[in-house]
Amino acid sequence: MHIVHLAAEFAPIAKAGGLGEVLVGLSRELTRSAHFVDVIIPKYDSINLSQLKIEVPDFKCLEYGNAMWSTKVEDCQVHLLEARHPAGYFHRGKIYGEEDDIARFIYFSRAALEYLKLKKEPIDVLHLHDWHVSLCAPLVKDLFKELKVGAVVLSIHNVEYQGKCAVSDLDAIGMRGIDYLSKEKLQDDNPKFPQTINLLKGGIVYSDAVVPVSPSYAKEILTPEYGFNLNRSLRSRQAKITGILNGIDTTIWDPSTDRNLAAQYAVESVTKAKQVNRGQFKLDAKKRPWLGAVTRLVPQKGPELLEEALKKTVGMGGCFLLLGSSPMPKIQDHFNHLKEKYKGNPQVLLNYEYNESLAHLIYGALDLLLVPSHFEPCGLTQLIAMRYGTVPIVCATGGLKDTVFDWEDSKVPIGQRNGFTFADPTSSSMDLTLERAFQLFRSDPATFQSLIRRGMQADFSWEKPAQEYLKLYRKLLGEQIPYDRVHHQEELRNRLRPKGTGRPSPQR
Ligand code: ADP
Repeated sequence: MHIVHLAAEFAPIAKAGGLGEVLVGLSRELTRSAHFVDVIIPKYDSINLSQLKIEVPDFKCLEYGNAMWSTKVEDCQVHLLEARHPAGYFHRGKIYGEEDDIARFIYFSRAALEYLKLKKEPIDVLHLHDWHVSLCAPLVKDLFKELKVGAVVLSIHNVEYQGKCAVSDLDAIGMRGIDYLSKEKLQDDNPKFPQTINLLKGGIVYSDAVVPVSPSYAKEILTPEYGFNLNRSLRSRQAKITGILNGIDTTIWDPSTDRNLAAQYAVESVTKAKQVNRGQFKLDAKKRPWLGAVTRLVPQKGPELLEEALKKTVGMGGCFLLLGSSPMPKIQDHFNHLKEKYKGNPQVLLNYEYNESLAHLIYGALDLLLVPSHFEPCGLTQLIAMRYGTVPIVCATGGLKDTVFDWEDSKVPIGQRNGFTFADPTSSSMDLTLERAFQLFRSDPATFQSLIRRGMQADFSWEKPAQEYLKLYRKLLGEQIPYDRVHHQEELRNRLRPKGTGRPSPQR
């Protein structure tokens, strides 16, 4: 199949969180399964790559010039769209958080489709990720009807972020915004804002399949509590919704080869190596449980519970490490005060930068990772933690509920119990679980070790999720071959054949 992913992120070159990781992990696995995978993201000014090739030096989107660059990143074919728009859309030193984010990504959506139109390569699956590019779903049925697309799939990585905007924002890229405001199209479902366009809803309405990133989250978003006002639109389209759990890229996340660690390790050497990795932090060297979190500090992630856990951990004689920053000044200020309060405390490390390498080292040093989210579409940190022999403590919601099973949960077979869960995102619920975890760590090291081992030996790779996506793609494409596939495959093979070797590209 020829699969084209459109997204705002791709790790490691453009990563703000889980989205970028999903893009690299899924694309790499689909490529490994011998499919033809193209990923298109904006060419942010923060991307610093020496091996870029110009692919299309100049093409128009509206009246503005653009170029497309291409390169291989982590074995994947990545295309970087350089927008020469006067607003300098992708020259902001960051991926998100700009006032004109809507205009930036709406423009990217249209420009990416202009490029695909120019390429004339038929596409089996156009796979969209989140609100940033969900406008492509209506666009391929409107201004880009001539694109040969077998099926459009939308993955929802977080339904909280929907891309709400005005009719004029659609007009600005040549759509007739007013037509899309009509019911059942792109009108926001909140009756208080009948004039508002909702880009994510456009993706949900016009895509052939909608994929929330875990089975539990796929059910949760149908309810008012988790649906952020899109629950009714989602519920009425339940037939095309399939939850598929994310994996992690086990090449990037591998404690036995990870160069960010002071000591690399496997199951047999985890305890010793963690001691060495802890030596990299200037914290109390006494034997204590180390608990931490690597997270964005936003209401979803339970910042108030992280603060509570910090107090509780210190009180119970543990070390607490937090790596995470907040886009919300009020939350960030609050955490800055906390840092002042705990300054010089040898049991506490609070770090508010975005630091990939430090994140790896923290996973490689902790005993326990806390994920106290109020909701969590999938969550990657608990998966990474387990791969690094760090036992997760999570609030039982969304993907956390699908991946972490409490060691005392008698409804789950013993061999699957791999961590600690608490039912509600409240301090009373969490505190009891923190106490249970510390208790087990201190009084029953053998059982604690068995949790570490189970996590490290579990398969959280993309192999299975990628097969589920492929199954879905095949179902959508059915028996119909919407174009001359033989011709198309030949074209793609030529494109992917290594220069001068005459070697055929991989067989499916
Ligand atoms: P999100 O909702 O933020 O996407 P996920 O759990 O799906 O949450 O993914 C978060 C990813 O971002 C993980 O790879 C985690 O290690 C990484 N991450 C979060 N905060 C930081 C940070 N401050 N520095 C480095 N990596 C971070």
